[in-house]
Amino acid sequence: MALFDLDMMQSLYAKLGERVEAARKVVGRPLTYTEKILYAHLTQGDATTVYERGKSYVDFGPDRVAMQDATAQMALLQFMQAGRPKVAVPSTVHCDHLITAQVGSSEDLSKAVVENQEVYDFLSSVSNKYGIGFWKPGAGIIHQVVLENYAFPGGMMIGTDSHTVNAGGLGMIAIGVGGADACDVMAGLPWELKFPKLIGVKLTGKLSGWTSPKDVILKVAGILTVKGGTGAIVEYFGEGATSMSCTGKGTICNMGAEIGATTSTFAYDESMERYLRSTGRDAVADIANTVKEHLTADAGVYAEPEKYFDQVIEINLSELEPHLNGPFTPDLATPISKMKEAALANGWPTKIEVGLIGSCTNSSYEDIARSASLARQVAAKHLKTKAEFTITPGSEQVRYTVERDGFLATFDEIGGKVFANACGPCIGMWARVGAEKQERNTIVHSFNRNFAKRADGNPNTLAFVGSPELVTALAIAGDLTFNPLTDTLINELGEEVRLDDPSGDELPPRGFDVEDAGYQAPAEDGSGISVAVSPTSNRLQLLDPFAAWEGTDLKGLKVLIKAKGKCTTDHISMAGPWLKYRGHLDNISNNLLIGAVNFFNEKTDNVKNQLTGEYGPVPATQRAYKAAGIGSIVVGDENYGEGSSREHAAMEPRHLGVRAVLVKSFARIHETNLKKQGMLALTFADKADYDKIQEDDSVDILGLTEFAPGKSLTLVFNHADGTKDEVVVNHTYNDQQIEWFKAGAALNIIRAQVAG
Ligand code: SF4
Repeated sequence: MALFDLDMMQSLYAKLGERVEAARKVVGRPLTYTEKILYAHLTQGDATTVYERGKSYVDFGPDRVAMQDATAQMALLQFMQAGRPKVAVPSTVHCDHLITAQVGSSEDLSKAVVENQEVYDFLSSVSNKYGIGFWKPGAGIIHQVVLENYAFPGGMMIGTDSHTVNAGGLGMIAIGVGGADACDVMAGLPWELKFPKLIGVKLTGKLSGWTSPKDVILKVAGILTVKGGTGAIVEYFGEGATSMSCTGKGTICNMGAEIGATTSTFAYDESMERYLRSTGRDAVADIANTVKEHLTADAGVYAEPEKYFDQVIEINLSELEPHLNGPFTPDLATPISKMKEAALANGWPTKIEVGLIGSCTNSSYEDIARSASLARQVAAKHLKTKAEFTITPGSEQVRYTVERDGFLATFDEIGGKVFANACGPCIGMWARVGAEKQERNTIVHSFNRNFAKRADGNPNTLAFVGSPELVTALAIAGDLTFNPLTDTLINELGEEVRLDDPSGDELPPRGFDVEDAGYQAPAEDGSGISVAVSPTSNRLQLLDPFAAWEGTDLKGLKVLIKAKGKCTTDHISMAGPWLKYRGHLDNISNNLLIGAVNFFNEKTDNVKNQLTGEYGPVPATQRAYKAAGIGSIVVGDENYGEGSSREHAAMEPRHLGVRAVLVKSFARIHETNLKKQGMLALTFADKADYDKIQEDDSVDILGLTEFAPGKSLTLVFNHADGTKDEVVVNHTYNDQQIEWFKAGAALNIIRAQVAG
């Protein structure tokens, strides 16, 4: 039985009414649902002040922490440094990211267990020792397992994965963070967040036919773009919201990460109650029903949303078309009726090689049932599936249930391959045959991200994101320009046939079932359990604390790279083959910024070593600076660090001696991660100053001895020809974060506090 802390939920609900009332009084108006959850989780207790959206830093006390195996390693290595005997809040670890999809679920899983044994043993023993629930490899993908077991309305959780936001589908405020934040909360410290802005999305009408919840978020991504949700929580409401399944809501919230939103959520409703009961959580539903009035916005808020939200978007589900977003970015939204035109205009290969359904985003019972309803038509209509087809179930519970109900057999009949209940192709853990040839090709999937190289490591794979039902239809047709709403297919008998609309149950009529969910409960008393990390390990390395700030301005920093254009955490710390080093800081640092494009020569992983004048890989160049005792600076463009929450993207440069990252703008999680690791995260006051930085510059950072909130710093770019430019840079450090910088890292402060 999974470790769900009903007492924790009950004690939160016991004070919910009082906390909401206090907040309402202070704010002086009706509250949105999001505000209720936020104000109910203030570590100080009842609200006494109004927080300014987008400005105030607030201390929250999340109810839970969830970690996936790739990020958990570093989070727990950090937690071990904090000196606590047990985690302070219910926490779980999920082994999902390290399983390569290749042959099929059981073979791939067995192979992964051998390959990653050291890491799994570490995570299992560290979980056992410190009171953390451990979900074994094969148990499922973190966000699906959380939705099935731990998410509850009105709760707040953080997770070391950007798609933690998925739990918003069950009415949570669930936020993706770096391992350092998880470490803080597990150590019993408050978790700080800038009070978010609020975006309201009003859903009118009702989904029908080919349109699915995925299309809502694909449409929203097209409207807001990958940056549009930055610093905001998106709250969905309206008749369209309540008429949609809970897992559909999860899909929408999941991909809120793709618009940069802090998180997304929906108020508690009957779909959530149905899902709770169907997943064996009657007790949670019963208790939630007792505080129902607090688990939604106050009366009037949804009727006049403009008064309460910073931005309001309205989408009529009855008119919404299925979308495909991509390639290479999840906000390039194309309605299916326009895809033919777009594909031809852009020269996208129209032959679909592979259709992939499932992942944490879209592997609900409803998703699988609706996709299977299309797969069934292949035989019935004498069709042949043209593209390869794969299924990645989100959890063993879903997999077992959809197998029992015959859906996997249906997929098998159309040549579908079922991968392990894990991330696999969604995170580059896909041993795709022929990918190394780097041929230009098109795939469609129901995952969430489609950055270059994300699925198969091939920069020339164009990945389009769609609903599982659309992906299934396109895999059957094998053609990106096929619109199942209007087009016909020619079957094996030479007849023109049309695919019927997808259909399927929201929840299994016979209930969910599972034989072995893959859960390991922690020891009651873990004090006698030892956690072994071999000093010769390639995969795991105990951490040494980062050095404190030297107390002076920083001078003579070399420009390591001036990154051009998109620089996500995948570019800074690539996933795929590097996932295996996520517990070994020195080894994984060999991927530092290897995906970033050097502004000066337009190449990746090729920068000038200012000490030798020669060009070489970024990590080797930085190691040369480190060996010479010289600091460096990384320069970046807009929304630097978007994408995953991995703190490796901040720890690697810190470990190798980069002192500052100066960009036009940051993605929130990455900016916080840099601060936690004691780095300087700076932004140009005038973005045009980006152009002033030259390849041979050495940079001075002035004003650090008076480093203070809201006070700009000065940077001097000393050019090779003896001239210099002096520019103003901004930062968002508050007092506490400045202390992190001074101490060398946030963790250095935690350790001192726990010891003290
Ligand atoms: Fe795994 Fe992909 Fe979901 Fe991330 S987005 S948790 S990699 S399935």
